[in-house]
Amino acid sequence: MKILVINCGSSSLKYQLIDSETESVLAKGLCERIGIDGALTHQPAGKDKIKSTPAMPDHKTAIGIVIDQLTDKENGVVESLDEIGAVGHRIVHGGEKFTKSCLITDEVIKEVEECSVFAPLHNPAGLIGVRACQELMPGLPMVAVFDTTFHQTMPKEKYVYPIPYEYYKKYGVRKYGAHGTSHKYVSTRMNEILGRYNTKLITCHIGNGASISAINEGVCVNTSMGLTPNAGLMMGSRCGDMDATVVTYMMRELECTPEEMDTILNKQSGLLGISGLSSDSRDIEDGMKIGNPRCTLAQKMFTNRIIDHIAKYYVELGGCDAIVFTAGIGENSIHT
Ligand code: ADP
Repeated sequence: MKILVINCGSSSLKYQLIDSETESVLAKGLCERIGIDGALTHQPAGKDKIKSTPAMPDHKTAIGIVIDQLTDKENGVVESLDEIGAVGHRIVHGGEKFTKSCLITDEVIKEVEECSVFAPLHNPAGLIGVRACQELMPGLPMVAVFDTTFHQTMPKEKYVYPIPYEYYKKYGVRKYGAHGTSHKYVSTRMNEILGRYNTKLITCHIGNGASISAINEGVCVNTSMGLTPNAGLMMGSRCGDMDATVVTYMMRELECTPEEMDTILNKQSGLLGISGLSSDSRDIEDGMKIGNPRCTLAQKMFTNRIIDHIAKYYVELGGCDAIVFTAGIGENSIHT
């Protein structure tokens, strides 16, 4: 079966058409600047990237353009839409309601909407993609794949925060984790490489966003991200874990609103906040090479938090068969 996979952001949309039998990617691409002007990069397997700038006033138009590319007479990879058997949508937050991927129904859409409080930018964007596909490909089965479900196996003592218990019951405040699809994939792949499944693994997804998971026999037992992705490790522009009182103290000092504080903690902190230069680890590495002390400090802090988590999970798991690194920094940066 050919499956169209869609990862919808607020102004971008990544897609791949996958042959589920061979697991090969038939075509992939990226729509950017949706709602602004529109930019498309489309790449059929084995061919060069095709770049164009079709108008993309909304996500429905963008998905229409993707369909045109996939079925194009010259560069298309399918004759018609009928060849596509299903659509998979990446949805960031599934709260406690979703413990596995599921077929999208009206009820599922309603529940994803309810989970939007924890992912106010991502979940609504995901649903825009779902609705656009429903209109353009009516009747096609669609599946929601959540970033959070892989972590739903954590024991309660790992996911409840030590604040008044009713905040968990009433507001759903707890650790959910993220990057679940990545942790699940790399741990499954590592088990295949090891040739056994009774393994203890520590998986490190270190990209601009970064998280580490402890996985026992294929089941997630702890992870570093929390209620939102801004927990655990220091990241490109997110602070990760620190004394919670820093937040209230600085809000009083800066006289800023919760929204302004969210921006500081998510977009102006991490590598960017410490280096004062960039959230991109390559720029930090370049800064270190010319002796920039704040880049050196940023890199040391970044690495230190990764070590902390690996050590913690090593003890929690009672040992470890393999440590897996993935994502932009994890795969490429020697310094990490
Ligand atoms: P995200 O998906 O969270 O945006 P990625 O997984 O694409 O993040 O990773 C982006 C990060 O990977 C950036 O900080 C970038 O500098 C880093 N990165 C990519 N390639 C390299 C490399 N060759 N050496 C060092 N860092 C790299």
